[in-house]
Amino acid sequence: MTSKHVQPNRSIEPPLSPATIAEAASEFETRRRAVAAALPERKLDALLVSFGPNLRYLSGFTGSNALLLVMPGGSVLFTDPRYQIQAAQEVSCSVTIAKGPLELDMAASLARHRIKRLGFEPGMMSCEAFRSLESSLPAKAELVAAGGSIEQMRMVKSPAEIDRIRRSVLTNSRAFEETVKRVRAGITERHLAAELEYRMRRLGAEKPSFETIVAGGVRSALPHAQPTSARLQTGQLVVVDMGSLQDGYCSDMTRMLYLGTPTAKVKRTYRAVLEAQLAGIDAVRAGARTARVDAACRNVLKRYGLDEAFIHSTGHGLGLEIHEPPRLGKSDKGSLQAGMAVTIEPGVYLEGFGGIRIEDTVIVTENGCEILTPTTKELRVI
Ligand code: ZN
Ligand code: ZN
Repeated sequence: MTSKHVQPNRSIEPPLSPATIAEAASEFETRRRAVAAALPERKLDALLVSFGPNLRYLSGFTGSNALLLVMPGGSVLFTDPRYQIQAAQEVSCSVTIAKGPLELDMAASLARHRIKRLGFEPGMMSCEAFRSLESSLPAKAELVAAGGSIEQMRMVKSPAEIDRIRRSVLTNSRAFEETVKRVRAGITERHLAAELEYRMRRLGAEKPSFETIVAGGVRSALPHAQPTSARLQTGQLVVVDMGSLQDGYCSDMTRMLYLGTPTAKVKRTYRAVLEAQLAGIDAVRAGARTARVDAACRNVLKRYGLDEAFIHSTGHGLGLEIHEPPRLGKSDKGSLQAGMAVTIEPGVYLEGFGGIRIEDTVIVTENGCEILTPTTKELRVI
């Protein structure tokens, strides 16, 4: 490739500083200690963590095949020889490189430490993995379902995590801005999605945090539409729902484009969703019930006669995963806490007309929230 094709790295932020990386390493240790300290009250001798995002949260390990055994005296990560070098670089607890199935080495460790009640995460485990775990256990050990606790810990983000989410959000918004100014009628939904993903990677993202949604015209009424080869045309609403994954953390944003001159119905519907989204953001603060935030959005749409067209919940937590607790829906029982990262994304979907959704990523604070998404919420008329 000639130098003409090689452009400088345009990542908006410098790489994470050594201080931030060191802080993250000590966070993993603190988290493992907190899990270990809570074992007695849960009547467990140890906790086996097998779900990837939870395992990463407690150890920093980013590989695809590992088990983490958290015990009062320390934790052990089991992985295979492909990850020997990577585990040594990423993980601060003890590491065992297994020659065969990880469960066998893990079971040997259980026997050595006389572990009897082993908590495990049933929610994200295949039946096959469960059987293999069960059959490799030492005679006196038993499995105890203990899912959800790490997910609870993950809901409130540390300053270092918020820093990563903020960077991810900025990269995502910048990729959107750079791409949108090039959008013209005639390009396909897939082409636009590919441009968005290409630019986010150029700007520092590892990959999209989920499959980018681009849907034009009546297809915008499909909340989770996949981009097709349909060409965007004048007179169409276009929904763009995109997120970046950067330093392991997700962002999530939805914005609307309109090709041509918006009709009165488009303008009115857009205003309704925007008012609903602003009302949702206004309702966010530490202590607020998640269902109240959802109701704030729904009440605005009701005034416009559009509440029945709002067919999903108002938002979700995000972090290492694109969808994680808490959920902000009609029947959710939880309350917000300072440090949670959540989306606010009301939408209306009208068959034969199209859909409109507006979504930001925000951090819950004591008195309200910090809106991380810098992108303007005006309807983008192209
Ligand atoms: Zn989204
Ligand atoms: Zn979302």
